[in-house]
This record gives sequence, C-alpha cells and structure tokens, in this order.
Amino acid sequence: MKPAPFTYEAPTTLGEAVDVLGRYGDEAKVLAGGQSLVPVLALRLARFEALVDLNRVDELAYVREDDGAVVVGAMTRQATVEADPLVRRAVPVLAEATRLIGHFQIRNRGTLGGSIAHGDPAAEYPAVVTALDATVTVAGPSGTRQLAAADLYDGPMTTTLADDEILAAVSFPVWGPRSGFAVREMARREGDFATAGTVVGVTVADGRITRAAISLFGMGPVPLRARDAESHLVGAATAGLDLTAVGAAAVAGVDPPSDVHASGRYRTRVASRLVARALESALQEATA
Ligand SMILES: Cc1cc2nc3c(=O)[nH]c(=O)nc-3n(C[C@H](O)[C@H](O)[C@H](O)COP(=O)(O)OP(=O)(O)OC[C@H]3O[C@@H](n4cnc5c(N)ncnc54)[C@H](O)[C@@H]3O)c2cc1C
Repeated sequence: MKPAPFTYEAPTTLGEAVDVLGRYGDEAKVLAGGQSLVPVLALRLARFEALVDLNRVDELAYVREDDGAVVVGAMTRQATVEADPLVRRAVPVLAEATRLIGHFQIRNRGTLGGSIAHGDPAAEYPAVVTALDATVTVAGPSGTRQLAAADLYDGPMTTTLADDEILAAVSFPVWGPRSGFAVREMARREGDFATAGTVVGVTVADGRITRAAISLFGMGPVPLRARDAESHLVGAATAGLDLTAVGAAAVAGVDPPSDVHASGRYRTRVASRLVARALESALQEATA
C-alpha cells in the first residue's frame, strides 16, 4: 500500500518548522528518520493532512558538551550517536544502547529524537533517558521549555508533547568517576524490538554503591524505574551483593503485558535475570 495523500512541508529552521506545524495543529506530523512513521503511513494505520519534514533543519543535528551534560540534537542520526567520541566517553550507555536498535540501515536513517518522541515501550532510547534522568528541550509556538524524562511518557507511544511541539534536543547528565553502566535485552532475533530489557547505572565509592539507576523496557506501557531496588542498592557493599535478589526486587510489582511475543510471567523472569547481569557488568565497569 501507499500512504494517503498529504501536503509535504520542508522547513529549513526550527522556528519555521514550529510555525508550519502550528498551522496544521493535530492534522500534521513531524517526519524525522521515517523508520516508524513511514510504515504506519504506508499501511494506512494513520493519515495526516501534512508532514513536516525536519531533515533540512541542520540546527537540530549535533552532539555537544554543555555544563556537565552531553546534549544531542533531535535530528542526530542514531548511527552518528553510536560512533560519536563524546557520547562514547561521557554517556557510554547511550552508544551501547544504540547498537541494539534494529539494524545499521535503520540507525543510518533513524534519529535520536524520533525514537524518543515515538516512545515505543520496547525501545532502548526511552529507557536510557529514563534511567539517566535526561532533560528534553521542546520547541513550541510560545518558545522552548525543558521537560524531565520522567514527565515525558504518558502511555504506549504517547508523550506529553503537544501536537504543535517539536522535540529539539536531549541533555544527558554525565555521571562522575567510578560509574559503570550496562544495557541488556532479550530479543527473539538480532535487530528485533526487545521482549524485555534494562538499563542500569551505578557509582561506587569505598566499596559501596553511592548512586544507582535501573530502568526497564518492554515491561509496561512506558519505561519504568525500579525505584525500590535502586534505594536498596544505595549504601550497599559491592562485595557479596546478591545480584539475583536485586533482579527480583527490580521486577517486584511490575505487571508486564502478555502478547504474541511473550507472556507477562516470562517477561518478568527474563527482566529479573537481565537486571542481575546488567548490574554485574555495571559494577565491574565502575570498579575496574
Ligand atoms: C525493522 C525495524 C526494526 C526496528 N527496531 C528497533 C529497535 O530494536 N529498537 C528501537 O528503539 N527502534 C527500532 N526501530 C524504530 C527505529 O529506531 C526508528 O528510528 C525510531 O523509532 C523512530 O525514529 P525516526 O527518526 O525514524 O522517527 P520517525 O519515524 O520519522 O517518527 C516517529 C514518530 O516520532 C515523531 N517525531 C519524530 N521526531 C520528532 C521530533 N523531533 N519532535 C516531535 N516528534 C517527533 C513523528 O512525528 C512520529 O510520530 C525499528 C524500525 C524498523 C523499521
């Protein structure tokens, strides 16, 4: 099938893109890498009066350091994020997670902002921004605003962005020394969306965990933080830590969906093991 007819808009600045989007309201969609939107249009699962293509808005494609954070423009390709030296050094888990997104052809076209705005509950980037407490910059008719990652997701593939707003950039805080990170997921085939997955970050000082973040993906309508497990970790000695117990604590009370890919019970078991493995790896990195 082919998409239903639409008006094609190709602004060259962010301001122009916001203006054009505002003219159409909820009758328009922003087009980034097209890796999720185009199949939806081609299958006629949705139709819009206009597409506002961001691919000529060069000011939205960059990676830069800013005040202790790494800021990535929304139109930065996932392949660029994966290879970027600053990302690899300062936010290594973002690069690691990128390698798990689909195949390289998809990452060549797909954008950081597209994945985060799309908000697939099984996607890697939303779990990374959730674990790292990233901040999203959103541009709209009344200017820009900052949004905490925790306030971004509303439900499956639903964000709190208004129809006339554009996700412009994401700011990833850089953790201090003796920090380690890991992302682990289980997918039926390489390149598939994850059945379940986790992103873990820890900081260690004097043999004790001083900071911990665990997010789960594929386990609910939005990326989830395992706050109870995190608070048990903070202050715990790394020696003799019961990783299996932390994995179990991370999924306690989580009610993942059952679908054609896996039952909720299976997802829970898998996620518990993945958290244990990711934590082990993150601790090794933090204490190396
Ligand atoms: C075969 C296949 C396998 C895949 N596997 C994975 C996977 O394992 N993990 C994974 O995470 N993803 C996967 N994807 C999806 C891929 O990562 C997409 O790149 C991503 O979901 C959307 O990014 P995009 O730039 O292509 O956005 P688009 O498809 O262009 O847009 C997606 C949605 O986000 C909105 N949007 C885009 N940019 C903005 C913005 N700046 N501001 C506001 N709204 C915006 C669009 O309007 C649209 O609703 C896969 C895709 C395919 C085709």
